[in-house]
Amino acid sequence: MLAYRDDVGPAAAISRIAYMNQVSSTTFGLVAQDAKFEVIVVGAGIIGLSIAYELIAKGFRVALVDPTPGEKTSHVGAGMIAPVSETAFGEDDLTQFNLLAAASWPDFRQRLEADSNCDLEFVQRGTIAVAFNADDRRFLMDLLNYQLNLGLKASPLTNGQCLELEPSLNPRVAGGILAENDCHVNPRMCVNALLSTLNQRGATLVKSEVQDIGVKQHGSNQNANSVILENGTEIFGDFIVLATGVLGADFPSIPKRFSPPLRAIKGQILRLEANESTVSPTHVVRGMVQARPIYVVPRPSGELVVGATVEEKSEDFLPSAGGVENLLHDAFMLVPGLREANLREIGVGFRPGTRDNAPYIGKSGIESLYYAFGHFRHGIMQAPITAKIISNFITGQTPPKAAIVSDPLRDGIV
Ligand SMILES: Cc1cc2nc3c(=O)[nH]c(=O)nc-3n(C[C@H](O)[C@H](O)[C@H](O)COP(=O)(O)OP(=O)(O)OC[C@H]3O[C@@H](n4cnc5c(N)ncnc54)[C@H](O)[C@@H]3O)c2cc1C
Repeated sequence: MLAYRDDVGPAAAISRIAYMNQVSSTTFGLVAQDAKFEVIVVGAGIIGLSIAYELIAKGFRVALVDPTPGEKTSHVGAGMIAPVSETAFGEDDLTQFNLLAAASWPDFRQRLEADSNCDLEFVQRGTIAVAFNADDRRFLMDLLNYQLNLGLKASPLTNGQCLELEPSLNPRVAGGILAENDCHVNPRMCVNALLSTLNQRGATLVKSEVQDIGVKQHGSNQNANSVILENGTEIFGDFIVLATGVLGADFPSIPKRFSPPLRAIKGQILRLEANESTVSPTHVVRGMVQARPIYVVPRPSGELVVGATVEEKSEDFLPSAGGVENLLHDAFMLVPGLREANLREIGVGFRPGTRDNAPYIGKSGIESLYYAFGHFRHGIMQAPITAKIISNFITGQTPPKAAIVSDPLRDGIV
């Protein structure tokens, strides 16, 4: 029987039986009125957690505040770190940023695994994107040319080469592309590893919603120096970082002109489990079926993540029968041997989407207030680089040049 959980609000409604979030091993503290920190991070998804991890490593006194740490979109994401196969036409600058993001993962992974003693299920075997007909194949070859023009590492595959590399694929495939450097990771393991490391290293973890940000007027400037918790407690920070996913900067005291636009994009995603009858892929495989994108991410543990729908809906937290049917139909078309796998979980998450698909990372326009949200479909991949950029700003260093694409002020919001 599939258990269903619908009490978690807009960022994720998750049905699950087996893959429970293990955040219960983490200790969450109370915090006193007027407590003072160097940095307060609002939001403990993979983005806020990674930022806190980076700053704690640099010796900062950090508080992290979230009513449901690690349980929203980051709990749902598939975990692909796939700058090449996620390339979209016209997104040259974002692709360069994603390459930098992916390049930050090996060091981040090494440090976090050593600090937490936790296996993040990081795998680098590449992605195979396949076509099922002549139209798909033309599209893929156009995409391949675009990728090669950007200097990306990708190569064409014939039908035979697809099947040789990945025998679990449907023999009807009509060729494809191999992006051999694409990787993937288990985001739930990352969240657990980050929470337990932060806990060990003395970060103050507070389970509370933040109701508002304390913004003061200083002459013509505004400055943020506190957050107000749901019980009215006000705590103070030299720097405040909003890593609030789909909520963004939507707080009463933040003027609308400092609040870059976000929209929630619903994604339904399945978690299957391989058994002795399952013929599973060993690479990430993806394709288009009836114009719907589909992917399967195989984890070392036997988990098979099948995703994902892309729906411009922000209020519908429930999975739909049609969405699940399409995901299963399309996944079986891609990898017929998945039919025998066990269906363990149906998840729904909301991607924090921006106008140009790039995140908002950096200065907010209000002094001492930094933004780290809007990561859309790339927040797992972009977590380590986001943490680095925010840490660069807070320590007075220059962030990497490619980070210009994620400047929160790029739309001229102030
Ligand atoms: C179906 C699906 C598949 C995906 N697959 C991939 C993938 O393969 N690769 C990839 O890179 N990305 C993927 N993504 C995208 C990725 O999951 C997100 O970009 C990422 O999880 C965003 O992380 P976050 O920390 O910003 O948001 P969240 O995980 O949503 O965290 C935000 C946190 O802020 C907290 N918060 C909000 N408001 C407040 C408040 N007022 N006070 C205190 N706390 C607050 C919330 O409780 C939440 O815990 C996928 C997303 C979906 C939906």
